[in-house]
Amino acid sequence: MKHQQLFIDHAYWTAERKRLQEAGSEEMSKCDRVQAGLERFKFNEKTCIESVHEAWRSQPGDPYSGGPSFEEDWLEAISEGSVCEHCINVRDLRKQRMAAGRKLGGIRSAITRIGQRLAKANGGGCD
Ligand SMILES: [Zn+2]
Repeated sequence: MKHQQLFIDHAYWTAERKRLQEAGSEEMSKCDRVQAGLERFKFNEKTCIESVHEAWRSQPGDPYSGGPSFEEDWLEAISEGSVCEHCINVRDLRKQRMAAGRKLGGIRSAITRIGQRLAKANGGGCD
């Protein structure tokens, strides 16, 4: 059947998105700051991402009024060496996960369209 590939792709991207999500939370738990916090019995240490985000939010001016975007502050933090490699991986995995989510969304709407066509061909009822 010609729609078989859609179902194969759907299964693939569902698994891929899950894998990326798990890899992301594993990397997050490896964050240097979080690990250092655990050693000092501080369990609520922020990740590098949360720290940069907090600093970005608390500065005057927002991206809508010409302030830096989070991405700009993040890249600056990377060049200053103030974020660990795990947090860089977390954001990378997150981007990949969102791309996988968009692929999945496209596949789902294609499946929905086929379903609607089949329903019409069957006279619109579900008998
Ligand atoms: Zn980190």
